[in-house]
Amino acid sequence: MSMSIQNYTATLLEKKEVAKNVFELRFSKPESFDFTPGQFVQFLIPNGEKHTSRSYSISSVSSDDYLEFCIKFLPDGMASQYFQAMGIGAQLEFRGPLGRFIVDENSHDHYFVATGVGLAPIMSMIRSLLDTNKLDHPVRLLFGVRDEDDIFWEDKLKELKQKNSLFDYTITLSQPKPTGRWQGLKGRVTDHILHHLGKHRFYLCGSAAMVKDIRTVLIENGVDAKDIHFEIF
Ligand SMILES: Cc1cc2nc3c(=O)[nH]c(=O)nc-3n(C[C@H](O)[C@H](O)[C@H](O)COP(=O)(O)OP(=O)(O)OC[C@H]3O[C@@H](n4cnc5c(N)ncnc54)[C@H](O)[C@@H]3O)c2cc1C
Repeated sequence: MSMSIQNYTATLLEKKEVAKNVFELRFSKPESFDFTPGQFVQFLIPNGEKHTSRSYSISSVSSDDYLEFCIKFLPDGMASQYFQAMGIGAQLEFRGPLGRFIVDENSHDHYFVATGVGLAPIMSMIRSLLDTNKLDHPVRLLFGVRDEDDIFWEDKLKELKQKNSLFDYTITLSQPKPTGRWQGLKGRVTDHILHHLGKHRFYLCGSAAMVKDIRTVLIENGVDAKDIHFEIF
């Protein structure tokens, strides 16, 4: 599906802190706007007389009647401060849809790797894949964050897993708290990816360092570069 890139105005409907400094923002979806899961928009953040654009991946799916984003608020970040101050009902312009990080829906095993808010486009991709009734292959997610306070949307992931036997996810913490309470995987996503090689399509989203490391490991272990799709934040 190809959509022309246009400017739209959206109204902030909801803002919820889902993890430390991570906010889920829901905006109204302009009537004529559509997108492919994995794509992003550029918000035009007012900056004096002009505006500064910042990219954010859409975490909702086309059938939702809102546009959802998952944004990490950086203490001195320009857009971060704007979103932090933004009240419910306020309007913001954006441009989109943009990006080529989209799912190949053909019958292949899909393996997603996200770190931090890199989960945003991947949540949209996974939800839309699971929504297609004809899904006949496993969909896996490896989600890495630093510690327990950085985990978000586990409730949503659990629910998706309960509803879809073909979906499974694993969370790994690179620096779990010293309480010893964390029972799950420890270490970085790169420490665990090798256990899951196989005939997969890989979709990576997160920092440049994570994407580079995972790509290197995959390619060194025989994965074809064309089977590795990625988005860098
Ligand atoms: C395709 C794409 C999709 C993206 N999707 C998402 C998403 O879904 N969620 C998300 O949270 N982010 C996403 N990003 C990142 C996002 O676009 C922004 O880069 C991010 O939110 C930071 O923007 P900001 O204006 O708040 O920070 P900026 O003002 O750009 O600052 C960035 C960093 O630099 C520091 N900084 C600012 N000024 C200075 C200075 N003078 N000296 C030193 N350091 C300084 C800030 O503290 C901050 O850590 C995406 C990026 C891309 C390219």
